[in-house]
Amino acid sequence: MTGEFELIARHFKRPARSAEVRIGIGDDAAALTPAPGATLLVTTDTLVVGRHFRPDVPADALGWKAAMVNLSDLAAMGGTPRWLTLALTLPEADDAWVAAFADGFRAAAEQVEAELVGGDITRGPLTIGVTALGETLDAPLTRGAAQAGDQLWLTGTTGQAAAAVAGLAAGVTPDASLLTRLDRPQARCAAGRAARGLAHAAIDVSDGVLADLDHLLKASRLGARLDADALRPTAAMQALADSLGEAPAPWIWTGGDDYELLVAVPPERAQTLASIWAEQGLAPLCIGELVDAPGLQWQGDAPTIDPVSSGFRHF
Ligand code: ADP
Ligand code: MG
Repeated sequence: MTGEFELIARHFKRPARSAEVRIGIGDDAAALTPAPGATLLVTTDTLVVGRHFRPDVPADALGWKAAMVNLSDLAAMGGTPRWLTLALTLPEADDAWVAAFADGFRAAAEQVEAELVGGDITRGPLTIGVTALGETLDAPLTRGAAQAGDQLWLTGTTGQAAAAVAGLAAGVTPDASLLTRLDRPQARCAAGRAARGLAHAAIDVSDGVLADLDHLLKASRLGARLDADALRPTAAMQALADSLGEAPAPWIWTGGDDYELLVAVPPERAQTLASIWAEQGLAPLCIGELVDAPGLQWQGDAPTIDPVSSGFRHF
């Protein structure tokens, strides 16, 4: 049996990567020095086995995803990720599993130059709680400052993760392009920073485009006119939909776990933002515009979506 402290020392404790971490893993609390004048951004998300991930998901993918879903929230605020804490609840102290989990978590953190500075390990049903801290020197991007006339832009296509979930549920192995989106999401941190100062509002798409758009619309007290044809299934999504006898539209508009950013940007600044995003290797898409009248209007044929199942709901 490996003890809690051995697990921490072996898999999580590493030399501090920056002087701003005055005290990292190993004391009663981490001691961190934000940049002078910076506004601190703090966000927490919990992943529960069977609810947010399948029990047999590879441990390194789970570690990666647990970090990335939190980093995505920092991205949506236009922040620079700095630090992470990790509350790990494990059914058993499986050294190999924890090693792989820690590798995945660290790889995600390193990709955005963030650092694990503390956490907790307890015994219980597999649950992963992560807190991410970031900073911004300018005003953070929020959900509530969009304006009528703003265009709605996504950092990329949606629905691939939901397609992978549907495939797995039907016992079909999804194409790698779909499974990668489910298991190895990418927080759009650089895209969020670029949007700060150009976009009026932003949110990350974790619960589905329509559900997260709804949060932005409510916070900004606006409605939207959406282009029904703006979001198309990828070839792999369409092939899977055909083999399952399903339509891909619900995955695209209401599937969760995409972690693209959705921003409201004034039309005169939209091309600037889109070209910065394209330089970052993204494939930005305009999906519509904001209007004063509340609710949704559709240009083209509105996708057929079961309103009860639209968007991930926790309760
Ligand atoms: P305490 O008993 O004071 O709560 P712990 O024994 O839980 O401290 O943890 C010891 C040290 O190890 C602390 O610095 C804590 O932040 C760190 N730590 C514990 N679990 C993890 C983890 N899963 N990942 C990173 N750091 C951890
Ligand atoms: Mg403790």
